[in-house]
Amino acid sequence: MRDVRERLPAADPVINAMTIDVEDYFHVSVFDGIVPRQQWDRLESRVCANTDRLLDIFAERSVRATFFVLGWVAERHPALVRRIVAGGHEVASHGYGHRLVYDQTRRTFRDDVRRAKATLESAAGTPVYGYRAPSYSITPRSLWALDILIEEGHTYDSSIFPIRHDRYGIPVSPRHPYAVDRQAGTLIEAPASTTRVGPLNLPVAGGGYFRILPYGWTRWGIARVNDRERRPAIFYLHPWEIDPEQPRLKAGMLGRFRHYRNLEGTERRLRRLLSDFRFGPMCEVLTLAAAAEPALMPVPALPYLW
Ligand SMILES: [Zn+2]
Repeated sequence: MRDVRERLPAADPVINAMTIDVEDYFHVSVFDGIVPRQQWDRLESRVCANTDRLLDIFAERSVRATFFVLGWVAERHPALVRRIVAGGHEVASHGYGHRLVYDQTRRTFRDDVRRAKATLESAAGTPVYGYRAPSYSITPRSLWALDILIEEGHTYDSSIFPIRHDRYGIPVSPRHPYAVDRQAGTLIEAPASTTRVGPLNLPVAGGGYFRILPYGWTRWGIARVNDRERRPAIFYLHPWEIDPEQPRLKAGMLGRFRHYRNLEGTERRLRRLLSDFRFGPMCEVLTLAAAAEPALMPVPALPYLW
């Protein structure tokens, strides 16, 4: 029995998307209204050191990733964007000023994404195709943003989280990359990963869920997506999440818990994750997904919503 199994070709490991939202610790939505935007320039900036640390870890492990860089950061640190490109990574957009999409008008959103894309492309010297909204803030009330993203030249978005959450999410939206047909054209939506447990989609791939819950949860969840569904997981992290030395800002109890919990253990976890799974940049993962699933283009997903 053992011999037979050994002769069977092993299934190719699935390549998952490694994505980093490049912002500083004070940009996080939890601190909206607590740290006024006019003060951002006066706070200690740690984004370069933390992102460089991630670049070192990825170089050590020969992992390439997608960095969704905030335009505000790229404007102040264009050399950081160039180091990301030099490391063989993909540069994508996290918008300019980290304002929640559903708090903006169509006009301010367009200005924000246009400014971010231009700043990033000029720093990176490469085109920017992808976008991820601050705090996954494309929800049923801000779906108009997809038209603007298409019009402004983005080909994929990673902002619609198919879960229930107090600030974001469309729980009934598809869990794996899919094409969205809009009036302005088509774009690929690449949601952060979840696993299905009973009637619920539970987040398994990144951010606070990675930092706060036991590592075994993420490992189980990604393995389940890879092995049972044969789909790539889309994982995300922020540079400040591996920085236990960052200045402590005031926030409510829930905000403090979400932001500061287990910062000291996250780098070790990330290294473990890179040993346990294979990763690549989003552009490659989506190309592979489209090749494997021709039906990806386009899915008649949720016509009442889209
Ligand atoms: Zn962000």
